[in-house]
Amino acid sequence: MLNIVEIIEKKRDNKKLTKEEIKFFIDGYTAGDIEDYQMSALLMAIYINGMTIEETVAMTEAMKLSGDIIDLSEIKGVKVDKHSTGGVGDKTTLIVAPIVAACDVPVAKMSGRGLGFTGGTIDKLHSIKGFQISVPRSQFMNQVNKFGLSVIGQTAKIAPADKKIYALRDVTGTVGNISLIAGSIMSKKLASGGDAIVLDVKCGKGAFMKSMEDAEHLSNVMVDLGKASGKNTIAVITDMNQPLGDAVGNSLEVIEAIEILKGRGNKVLKEFCLDLSAMMIYAGGKASSLSQGKGMAEEVLENGKALEKFKILIREQGGEEKVVDDYTLFKKHKLEKNIIAKQEGFIEEINAEIVGISSQRLGAGRKTKEDDIDVSAGVYLYKHVGDFVQKGDKLATVYADEEHKLAEGYEYIVKAWHIVSDKVAQKPIIKKIIIDNREVTSVSEF
Ligand code: URA
Repeated sequence: MLNIVEIIEKKRDNKKLTKEEIKFFIDGYTAGDIEDYQMSALLMAIYINGMTIEETVAMTEAMKLSGDIIDLSEIKGVKVDKHSTGGVGDKTTLIVAPIVAACDVPVAKMSGRGLGFTGGTIDKLHSIKGFQISVPRSQFMNQVNKFGLSVIGQTAKIAPADKKIYALRDVTGTVGNISLIAGSIMSKKLASGGDAIVLDVKCGKGAFMKSMEDAEHLSNVMVDLGKASGKNTIAVITDMNQPLGDAVGNSLEVIEAIEILKGRGNKVLKEFCLDLSAMMIYAGGKASSLSQGKGMAEEVLENGKALEKFKILIREQGGEEKVVDDYTLFKKHKLEKNIIAKQEGFIEEINAEIVGISSQRLGAGRKTKEDDIDVSAGVYLYKHVGDFVQKGDKLATVYADEEHKLAEGYEYIVKAWHIVSDKVAQKPIIKKIIIDNREVTSVSEF
């Protein structure tokens, strides 16, 4: 008979837990048979002593099996899922999903709401009037089979063990352990039914992983967890030392995504989305290399097929399709204020964490999961790392609906810029791609 106190003592003494012991504490905690204080002690022991890959695989499997396992077998083709570990201004799903669908790789995506700095993909889509994020399962399947894509909200029934454990980690100082993070992310991904997974692991000040070493470690563990479940898994480590693109905030990011789909907008963001699309097209078996996949992605962006897919996504899920051509149909903010450069020089850093917190204060993100989001609130950046600015240049604009939110967001964001007199080199977004037991530093190398 297994005993939770003995399991806690074993991990406290840095001994390896068996598969049965791991399943026992995951199932027991989810069912309410193990108390919060016992699970807290165990999580702290795991945090301090770590887990082997075998233990991490067993924990991920147990968390995955704690809820629904989505069966996407009715959808024809290789379904490729994508996950980002959370970045500021990360609207890539809105751009990549239509591109990939236009290249005949089906996208059956379940996305989360954001908690923390900014909204998640689902909050962003919510800024389109009428857009339905919870649709019946049959509609979801039919839509993907007929049009190639659907994006809906993740149900609470996916990996409920993770939901409960994550809430406890959040209040016991045990979030930042690689095995716990990898297990948390991968249990949900493996339950979501995709055949292959592309993981965007953010690295830098605005991310969970602050160092390249940690980002590589997390990526390797998640790739191993994917492989252990028989799913082709690609990880890409990307820079989060400045927000991604120009816009941070829900409707602002949807508009930026539409601009990219129209072939315009921030060039760095566009290239990165083409690179991510290449990984998904390759994982979906439609290209034999990343370079070929990128070529396919470029083609559907240029010929308008990707934009057409985005319009179909909106229309099929009840949203107002006209927003694509008329941005005035999005809710408009009431107040705005510019951030002006106080000195001349080169931008060395735009602290993504500060921009993220500022956008939350402006109303674009939640502090607690009950908070409402203001879809029109956020930040628009005119300059990026490496750019030269004159004193008095406009660096950004912040948007909000209430004076106190505007003031709070403004006060926060002014600390984000670091301007220096020496020229600053622009760093590539992609730091490393882990793919098919190889490591490369750009899409063109594979
Ligand atoms: N995202 C998750 O889903 N879980 C973690 O533990 C960290 C980031």
